[in-house]
Amino acid sequence: MEKGNYMKKVVKFGGSSLASPEQFKKVADIIKGEDSRRYVIPSAPGKRYADDTKVTDMLYQCHELKENGKDIKPLLEKIKSRYNEIIKGLGLKLSLEEEFAEIHRQLDAGAGSDYAASRGEYLNGMVLADYLGFEFVDAAEVIIFHMDGTLDVDKTNELLKDCLKSREYAVIPGFYGKLEDGTIHTFSRGGSDITGSLVARAIHADMYENWTDVSGFLVADPRIISNPEIIEAITYRELRELSYMGAGVLHEEAIFPVRREGIPINIRNTNAPEEKGTLIVESTCRKPRYTITGIAGKKGFAAINVDKDMMNSEIGFGRKVLGVFEDNGLSFEHMPSGIDTMTIVVQQSEFVEKEQQVIAGIHRAVHPDIIEMESDLALIAVVGRGMKATRGTVGRIFSALAHARVNVKMIDQGSSELNVIVGVKNSDFETAIRAIYDIFVTAQL
Ligand code: ADP
Ligand code: ASP
Ligand code: MG
Repeated sequence: MEKGNYMKKVVKFGGSSLASPEQFKKVADIIKGEDSRRYVIPSAPGKRYADDTKVTDMLYQCHELKENGKDIKPLLEKIKSRYNEIIKGLGLKLSLEEEFAEIHRQLDAGAGSDYAASRGEYLNGMVLADYLGFEFVDAAEVIIFHMDGTLDVDKTNELLKDCLKSREYAVIPGFYGKLEDGTIHTFSRGGSDITGSLVARAIHADMYENWTDVSGFLVADPRIISNPEIIEAITYRELRELSYMGAGVLHEEAIFPVRREGIPINIRNTNAPEEKGTLIVESTCRKPRYTITGIAGKKGFAAINVDKDMMNSEIGFGRKVLGVFEDNGLSFEHMPSGIDTMTIVVQQSEFVEKEQQVIAGIHRAVHPDIIEMESDLALIAVVGRGMKATRGTVGRIFSALAHARVNVKMIDQGSSELNVIVGVKNSDFETAIRAIYDIFVTAQL
């Protein structure tokens, strides 16, 4: 064990890192390997193999069965056996019989889906605390949400500080907390990352380690690019752009608490702890290896094109058009514009239901010459702090896409020059990502 430093680290382990007794052993080795790894945030047991089911998904299903008046006993037994496999495999004496009986009672009494889902982390936290010999802290005591479901940031920070002040080591389950009235409430999926970040902020951690099943933040989604390069260091802002655009490693909201305190996040691989992973920092003078830091993207957008001669000189035109979206409760993703044309890019699934109201509203608000729509678009974000200093980046993106016969529907470069957003057809999505990856990364190797 490395001793003698007074560093404090918060370590969060994802579902696949805690899916079986073998994985638990790796996790314990990592934690015990450094004295500074004091506060541990576990997820619920994830997949043990490719087509396995996550415990969280089974718990949501349990709640749904209950809602439909079906018997939940067999599924609860299956979930129990997931935990018992771990408990037995680790040789622990712990019994979760009472806990499962209580969960059954609560679901019978009408507990909500958040309660059901939260039990995955709650139980896994108990098992891990028992195995490590660390104290267990129920997240419901320290993570507090307002009644509208938003986090009570200050209260949570205070409670976490108070609670952990007197505890040198603790396990705090991820993903959930409670509402002001005591009802259990969860973050959105993948939210254990946020819990880890909140704990790191509260204790002024030196580092927030986020342990998962890949060796860091990769330049592109490994499901699209086989064996992509690992990003050594990335800034919060770059990461925010990438995770917002679908790079799923870290919950998109997880950077906010640590960012306030300038605490770095280190993405690490539980299955390859010797690798350094990715460091996420406020700023760095480390030069990225390539012009771009990463590529990410999402499918399922629609673009609404509004044309009107001389729109440019009509004061308030843009505001009026956006007002129509606002009135219909729609947020927009991007808004590239020309002199007599503006395009509003929205999420298709939200937009379709309100399509006709929006078009009618735009007609009424600004009397355009033409409104055209295009659906089934994908947006790809090419992100990098290195792009500012490099000429021709956009040109290279275009030429790579042209070579791959991908038609570019839209392009938007933020004024920060940190990212370029390219819109392509959904069906061209993977080809486009590969083409961009090849020109900036493969060609430089
Ligand atoms: P955990 O359960 O540990 O929280 P997640 O499934 O939430 O793990 O996130 C890790 C997964 O994110 C990886 O297994 C990988 O498939 C996926 N992923 C998507 N984009 C990227 C990327 N750019 N870099 C690394 N992983 C990515
Ligand atoms: N277990 C939850 C989920 O599957 C939360 C998490 O893993 O962070 O979404
Ligand atoms: Mg995750």
